[in-house]
Amino acid sequence: MNIQRSTQLFAEALTLLPGGVDSPVRAFRAVGGQPLFIDRGEGAYLFDVDGNRFVDYVLSWGPLILGHAHPRVVAALAEAAARGTSYGAPSPLELELAKLIQQFMPSVEMMRFVNSGTEATMSALRLARAFTGRNKIVKFEGCYHGHADMLLVQAGSGVATLGLPDSPGVPPATVADTLVAPYNDLAAVQKLFEQFPRDIAAVIVEPVAGNMGVVPPMEGFLSGLRDVTTVSGALLVFDEVMTGFRVHPGGAQALYDVKPDLTTLGKVIGGGLPVGSYGGRRDVMQLVAPAGPMYQAGTLAGNPLAMTAGIETLKELQRPGTWEALEAHSTKLATGLSAAAEEAKVCVVSHRVGTMFTTFFADQPVTNWATAKSADTKKYGAFFRAMLEGGVYLAPSQFEAGFMSTAHGETEIEFTLAAARRAFARLG
Ligand SMILES: *Cc1c(COP(=O)(O)O)cnc(C)c1O
Repeated sequence: MNIQRSTQLFAEALTLLPGGVDSPVRAFRAVGGQPLFIDRGEGAYLFDVDGNRFVDYVLSWGPLILGHAHPRVVAALAEAAARGTSYGAPSPLELELAKLIQQFMPSVEMMRFVNSGTEATMSALRLARAFTGRNKIVKFEGCYHGHADMLLVQAGSGVATLGLPDSPGVPPATVADTLVAPYNDLAAVQKLFEQFPRDIAAVIVEPVAGNMGVVPPMEGFLSGLRDVTTVSGALLVFDEVMTGFRVHPGGAQALYDVKPDLTTLGKVIGGGLPVGSYGGRRDVMQLVAPAGPMYQAGTLAGNPLAMTAGIETLKELQRPGTWEALEAHSTKLATGLSAAAEEAKVCVVSHRVGTMFTTFFADQPVTNWATAKSADTKKYGAFFRAMLEGGVYLAPSQFEAGFMSTAHGETEIEFTLAAARRAFARLG
């Protein structure tokens, strides 16, 4: 594969951007090699600056559930841009997106739009603290909730990929109130509540973990979190920035039938533009300024372009049959990958929930960060490189989810599985 132009650009990028990238997960440090510079995306495909074409399963790390440059999204964006890119004043588009989100996720009685998932989780936790008058929060090992100080403890995604313990620059005082439990370990959470019965403001969880690779919740875990928070008067925050509209049209809360107090969203609701949102119980959301005293603001929040991309994306997802096709294609891909591994006698643990999937190069069940970490990252790296050579762009880390879109059809799946059979055979 010729990557001459990418190589030149990366060399230059290293002098301009730390590590040559604007987000650490984009660097190929965990898999070897160097990042490709992208020229354009179209449907299920990415084209790099050297003219190589890849079936894309990163999809901008989740948002592009309709694939790249969906014609309706592009047309709506062009029209919206012509009417101005930001008003700093309310527009009807905010209400339209809010109502669409509510149709999918009725627990979100009110919401506030922000610009990223990081802002959403940060604000939701400020709100939970304001509402309860308590300071402590509980998070889980290997779950990633963005890069806010208080959440950069035992975090997943790039933090896990790069093996960073915690980040320097995070003052110990800002994480002193962050308690950490292993994912899927309800007993550990119950113990924290016994230890701090009146101090925990919120439990924040990825209801399907996606930032240590995909790890589904075990039976009773989410409902147990619901019970223990209700009893204590703490709030349950589902961070559905990734899982929203990806594990089920109504998010993990619909799939597992557990109702959180607050939900954070991002990724898909922005259709590829920067958006996040936090929302939930009306009585809690009424505390947000200017309705209430909890301050949180944003210059570009709810801007017409981001709202438009989100609206078009969610409207497409509402079309009859869309979700069923997504789910069927995701199933076909995931079972095909497992079968290809088995054929080549490569030991893997395959997880898929809705349109999110991970193939762990592991030989024991993966239920939390400790077991995810046991995966063979060298093997993943070799698999990743072989797939890239074969024209398939997977996440450049074992500890990330793969994503499907409505643009991925039979052709792309067959192409991917053929590449996977060759890649696994090389590993076997
Ligand atoms: C991606 C992600 C975030 C952070 O969102 P950004 O838009 O990158 O700030 C937060 N929580 C989860 C679960 C995510 O997957």
